[in-house]
Amino acid sequence: MRIDLHTHSSVSDGTDTPADLVAAAAAAGLDVVALTDHDTTDGWAAARAACPPGLVLVPGMELSCRWFPADDRPISVHLLAYLFDPDAPELAAERARLRAERLTRGERMVTALAADGFPVSWAAIVARSGGGVVGRPHVARALVEAGVVGSVDEAFAGLLHHTSPYYVAKADTDVLDGIALVRAAGGVPVFAHGLARSRGRVVGDDALAAMAGAGLLGLEVDHPDHADADRAHLRSLAADLGLLATGSSDYHGTNKRTPIAACTTDPGQYERLLTLGSGSAPSAG
Ligand code: AMP
Ligand code: ZN
Ligand code: FE
Ligand code: FE
Repeated sequence: MRIDLHTHSSVSDGTDTPADLVAAAAAAGLDVVALTDHDTTDGWAAARAACPPGLVLVPGMELSCRWFPADDRPISVHLLAYLFDPDAPELAAERARLRAERLTRGERMVTALAADGFPVSWAAIVARSGGGVVGRPHVARALVEAGVVGSVDEAFAGLLHHTSPYYVAKADTDVLDGIALVRAAGGVPVFAHGLARSRGRVVGDDALAAMAGAGLLGLEVDHPDHADADRAHLRSLAADLGLLATGSSDYHGTNKRTPIAACTTDPGQYERLLTLGSGSAPSAG
């Protein structure tokens, strides 16, 4: 059984439509795929409708969050959520707030780039997103298409990097609140790519223990951005804290070079995850 629990469609910052994404999952030989777009459940219905025979679709999301260290600036972190009730009002309101935050922040970044002569337009970027959740990958593609950079990676390494003067932070959810919101909605919160050091500062073990105390149920252990030593550390921490250990590709279509199913989840861990979620159900094609 091959299980990939973290993918993005064009409903957020991936390039496959939800229907293309479930087709790609089946073509890659997956038995289970979770759709985890940033801050939205808008892709669930289309993915379910297109789910091919033999594939199980797990409804999910990746919530944009922050960890607040006692003595330092907040650290940007991501919280995966599975099998939650999409109509739970508090979580739905928080997702809506985050999407609005993304629009304000994206517009500020693009306006600053344009003011300095980079040929990018916020209106064009929003139009291209087709009403989906806008993120830096959309800005990166616009910079590639304008010939400013040669690739999305180059945009992320320079103009869009979190140390760039054009970078604008978002007022993301306190991750402890995010965990509580997901649990209140019957969902399973799993801390995403916790030691992906290339993305910036990462949280310490104290933070992971605090999250476990607040109701976190899993750690994403196998992820393309995790070094082997960090995977081993997270795996032992998950065992110590009684948390699920998951593995996933974080597929974004052609916005990233990682193929779908690049990392996968152990079937026993997946079975445990199914017993922990009660707000929505997987669907079979
Ligand atoms: P944002 O949520 O708008 O801050 O943008 C972050 C998103 O960009 C995350 O989903 C990352 O997976 C994605 N990302 C980070 N680095 C890269 C990269 N080098 N190429 C493509 N996408 C990236
Ligand atoms: Zn993304
Ligand atoms: Fe993420
Ligand atoms: Fe992701």
